[in-house]
Amino acid sequence: MKNIQELPRVQLGVFPTPFYRLERISETYGKNIWIKRDDMCGVALGGNKVRKLEFLLAEALEQGCDTVFTTGGAQSNHAMLTAACAARLGMRCILLLKRRGVTDHRGNLVLDDIFGAEVRMLDTDSYDDIYAEMHRMGEALERDGRKCCYIPVGGSTALGSLGYAAAVREFAVQALAAGVRIGHIVSATGSGGTTAGLLLGAKRFLPGVKVTGIAVDTDPFDEIVPRLAEEAAGLLEWPFRREKNDFEMVSHVGPGYAVPNPEDTPYIEELARREGILLDPVYTGKAFAGMMELLRQGYFGDDDNLVFVHTGGAGALFAMDLPR
Ligand SMILES: *Cc1c(COP(=O)(O)O)cnc(C)c1O
Repeated sequence: MKNIQELPRVQLGVFPTPFYRLERISETYGKNIWIKRDDMCGVALGGNKVRKLEFLLAEALEQGCDTVFTTGGAQSNHAMLTAACAARLGMRCILLLKRRGVTDHRGNLVLDDIFGAEVRMLDTDSYDDIYAEMHRMGEALERDGRKCCYIPVGGSTALGSLGYAAAVREFAVQALAAGVRIGHIVSATGSGGTTAGLLLGAKRFLPGVKVTGIAVDTDPFDEIVPRLAEEAAGLLEWPFRREKNDFEMVSHVGPGYAVPNPEDTPYIEELARREGILLDPVYTGKAFAGMMELLRQGYFGDDDNLVFVHTGGAGALFAMDLPR
């Protein structure tokens, strides 16, 4: 068995991120709700992709890459954070984005430009088409002497997922210092890598703690997440055994991926007005609203001390209004 610290990693974020109890929300709901502030990880507007990129870009640097390709929707947080991290490492960043969602020059598209990324919008709804185009462009660049790496949507590879296994180790230490026993971890699931890493990390560093992913898209995450977690475990030669009640997916996609749901707006406002924390309507707003609805339904039982992993996403607030 290897330690995560043995793997190549490039420092991009400012870690550890804050971990603390949401005092007013916990009081209102009669439950101890803790938050892991990965929206405050020190790159751009923060977000979960930075922990993945610390591993993914370390591998790219080891391979001698000087150009990074990735993809996502027009308002992709992952694409924007890849642009920010590539800039920091002096790498060229090319974003092939789906012309889907808000495509005007707002929100993350503005930030992509500020970070100096080259953005191309593609008229397709298939990532396979996009990866084919990426490789075509990359091969042409390599003929000119560049070396390219290709990061899939969301950075959700086994290697990327390890960022969130490492995050569990980080907040397990913070929880110990605060004298809390964590009962349950909740986070948004968009491409699966974050939840996979949380599941693997919980098994290793917080055995017995359940991970619930709140799906904000319609992919078959019940299969995707454990498979990615198992592959990630393989990279470290860790055992990976499913146990009863270790993991569950709950859908809170509402009207569709990246379509804000009016029912989430009161929850987004509640966290802002009681705790001074911003959620976005695409990922964290849906995840937080989904968690609070589960809480109301008694889903968490006697598990004390929920941890909500804040995965970032604030850029979307500058691209779309909150519906009512
Ligand atoms: C990408 C993203 C997620 C989802 O993480 P995955 O690893 O893709 O499942 C959650 N929140 C925000 C803000 C994101 O940008």
